[in-house]
Amino acid sequence: MNPLTISIIGAGSAVFSLQLVSDLCKTPCLSKSVVRLMDIDTNRLEGVQFLATKLRNEFGAELAFEKTTDLEEAVCGADFVINTALVGGHPFLEKVRGIGEKHGYYRGIDAQEFNMVSDYYTLSNWNQYAYFLKIARLMEDTAPDAWLLLAANPVFEGTTLISRERKIKMVGFCHGHYDVENVARCAGYGMNDIDWQVAGVNHGIWLTRFRKEEKDLSDYLNEYEKTRKGWKPETPFDLQLSPAAFDMYHFYGVMPIGDTVRNTTWKYHYDREIKMKWYGEPWGGADSPAGWAWYENRLREVVEVIQQLTKGLKNHPSLRLTSVLETKKKKLPNAFSEQVERILNPNNLSGEQHIPFIAAITGHQPGRFIVNTLNRGNIGGIADDVAVEIPATVDAKGIHPEPIDPALPKKVVDWYLKPRIWRMERALEAFLENDPGLLVEILMRDPRTRSQRQAELAIREIMELK
Ligand code: NAD
Repeated sequence: MNPLTISIIGAGSAVFSLQLVSDLCKTPCLSKSVVRLMDIDTNRLEGVQFLATKLRNEFGAELAFEKTTDLEEAVCGADFVINTALVGGHPFLEKVRGIGEKHGYYRGIDAQEFNMVSDYYTLSNWNQYAYFLKIARLMEDTAPDAWLLLAANPVFEGTTLISRERKIKMVGFCHGHYDVENVARCAGYGMNDIDWQVAGVNHGIWLTRFRKEEKDLSDYLNEYEKTRKGWKPETPFDLQLSPAAFDMYHFYGVMPIGDTVRNTTWKYHYDREIKMKWYGEPWGGADSPAGWAWYENRLREVVEVIQQLTKGLKNHPSLRLTSVLETKKKKLPNAFSEQVERILNPNNLSGEQHIPFIAAITGHQPGRFIVNTLNRGNIGGIADDVAVEIPATVDAKGIHPEPIDPALPKKVVDWYLKPRIWRMERALEAFLENDPGLLVEILMRDPRTRSQRQAELAIREIMELK
């Protein structure tokens, strides 16, 4: 097989870039790949390319890194395109949130029933949707056989939109299912020791199977809930065993997994006090003002550390990146030290699925993945052309979804997935029809709306930012 060309769009992404690069360094079957790093921020791009090259040299990997600020150049002739770009960045999202709050929409207009994740904008971020389609159109024209791997949010809306509108191969990825580990621990196991399955839509997945050698492990969850004494989260994202998760578990009959715990009705999100009740003190979860500020500070720290490292190592070229990271690990901000642990360990990949997926779909290392792909009958009661998040085996012949067994409870499908899908459909309709009036109509059904004028003013001001 010829060496692959793998393009990373938004390569300066604090969350993904170095993890993807270190995964590539540790995947010998993808040796000799050319990695095109693309970002509009030349500072971030420069830093990621410099550190990626150092890491490659120190791991002894055979990879070539190219950098560009030109999307077309990045996509043309590629075999794989990974999109991690956030158009406008977090500052844009905060501006939109601020306008919403000014008009009486606590946490912004994009905080909606079953979609409370604070950087998962489905109503207002038309720039992000337009960019998704632009990349896919370029792929149709200049890299028609390539796979698009979507990491940028909103993965649910994005996967559905691109799969419907463009003729390319694509898959969406999220790492939320790793929270199965926290649930498995209630039964005294690790997630790799048990038979588990999740299904739903992105940020709306449910533990449909939780077994060890045919024995259902759900009793351990009930026991854990009954016997635990108090509960306090270690971080704003430590939510898998929160009171909100168990409340949902009792209502729906299966455990919500990962970001699903955040994506609830307003019952858990009305205000700070309510958030603290369900998601724990002192933050009230990741999607409170305090919880989200904590996350944004971590992201900022990672970007700053990457820039400092780049500067320091350029001044002292004989220093090894891995040695500097090893010695400085403990002094680094938490956000970076966790990533560093994973980057330095030669035997462990980051847990992001993108690079293992490339190794699988090219036939080198088939494996099991949690993928976002069009439903096509996998979850009953949901249209075929809606993206679902399900387990699948991936090999050179493609993505082979596992039968969902046992099926998702009807209550999850009717009370959670269908309303969430309705929101996705309306958000995409507003974007595709270029009709902000439809967004106003959505807000007219929002419990925070007190008048038509309030909704119209909020939408008008947000649309003026475009
Ligand atoms: P970030 O702002 O740190 O990084 C985004 C990068 O995109 C930046 O380097 C920015 O310069 C770049 N960018 C912006 N506009 C661009 C354009 N037009 N072309 C190319 N690059 C552009 O954001 P982040 O926190 O790293 O998040 C990136 C995305 O990943 C977000 O959408 C976020 O919600 C999503 N995310 C997904 C998962 C998942 O598991 N799928 C997990 C976390 C975050």
